[in-house]
Amino acid sequence: MGLIVQKFGGTSVGSVEKILNVSNRVIEEKQRGNDVVVVVSAMGKSTDSLVALAREMAKQPSQREMDMLLTTGEQVTISLLTMALQEKGYHAVSFTGWQAGIQTESIYGNARITHIETTKLKKHLKEGKIVVVAGFQGITDEGEITTLGRGGSDTTAVALAAALRANKCDIYTDVPGVFTTDPRYVNTARKLDGISYDEMLELANLGAGVLHPRAVEFAKNYEVTLEVRSSTELTAGTLIEEESPMEQNLIVRGIAFEDQMTRVTVCGLSSGLTTLSTIFTTLANENINVDIIIQSVTNTSETSISFSVKTECCSRTVKVLEKYKDVLNYKQIETENCLAKVSIVGSGMISNPGVAAKMFAVLADNNIQVKMVSTSEIKVSTVIHENDMVKAVEALHDAFELSKITVESK
Ligand code: ADP
Ligand code: ASP
Ligand code: MG
Repeated sequence: MGLIVQKFGGTSVGSVEKILNVSNRVIEEKQRGNDVVVVVSAMGKSTDSLVALAREMAKQPSQREMDMLLTTGEQVTISLLTMALQEKGYHAVSFTGWQAGIQTESIYGNARITHIETTKLKKHLKEGKIVVVAGFQGITDEGEITTLGRGGSDTTAVALAAALRANKCDIYTDVPGVFTTDPRYVNTARKLDGISYDEMLELANLGAGVLHPRAVEFAKNYEVTLEVRSSTELTAGTLIEEESPMEQNLIVRGIAFEDQMTRVTVCGLSSGLTTLSTIFTTLANENINVDIIIQSVTNTSETSISFSVKTECCSRTVKVLEKYKDVLNYKQIETENCLAKVSIVGSGMISNPGVAAKMFAVLADNNIQVKMVSTSEIKVSTVIHENDMVKAVEALHDAFELSKITVESK
């Protein structure tokens, strides 16, 4: 007998029927003799509907009240699921994030979990109850309600699994596992049997929305075995753990992509030693998250710096640069919208040269212009026009033969 944490996302709890289906999956786990903690998201697209409601009240609602509002979504699901479990004769109890002891840092909208006080949950588990916890939320030391960022229920589940030393954390969702790329865009995408924490972390950070990046971070740091699996089909999903099965000749394991990127170029900067640090310290101080950075020295005294940001941050970025124009001492700012980032990820890249070259050749063969590039040991990212995004992903998926993966058994 062990402890299993199960997490069900928005689509999986999107209606009464779906919540009843989820209650069956929970009961099956309980009947296998395990203690069960269930983490649920808000029903269907209800978080989006709450965001839309807020926008009707204010152009820029305060972050505190946004968190107050958005956390209600998950509270609906925990109570309904618990009622369904009770109706079927099971002892179950629901808790909001703060009732469950989930402490976070004092940042609204995107708080990190700092600590989980598990005494209460353990007491209820010991009494044989199924414990149902609201995802995506916590409380600060000052007693303020916070959210963990969109998609953050995954992180609640993995953090609880780590804190309660669960045997496993199952992430039930609307696809049967982690695929070589988003199966909604590429129909030849294939489900992976396994993937390492590091590869999954890169994919999640680079836009593969199937897992919240911080959930993968937690899983890696606390060695939580994660499985992403279907909430409707009884099939094995994708295991995410330290060692993943060696895949034959597999250099690229997956492709992630993200649209709505903007390139900002600051032209005519003096090419002094401190230029880079001044510009990026200024942006960091204003909480602007910068992604890929490219510096090009046009002549000995002048330099231009380009960087990418999410399009939603573009106007704020430009405002900050304008505000500090005198300090930064540049000639002009240029922006280019409608860009996308396409990234290939695979730990096999470390020992195989020529992967980036092959990626660029494939994009060139498809008449796709690369505007920015960034690499790490296990990924190559390119920024291209948004209109070319799906074509690029399909071409790369084909060229790296991702639909043909064969997995050796461990
Ligand atoms: P949930 O509501 O269960 O949290 P999400 O919508 O957050 O579900 O995540 C599941 C979605 O992630 C899938 O429907 C799929 O479109 C998307 N996705 C993106 N990249 C991948 C990938 N590599 N493998 C599987 N799904 C992916
Ligand atoms: N309900 C939240 C969202 O839609 C959290 C989650 O689903 O993980 O982002
Ligand atoms: Mg999700």
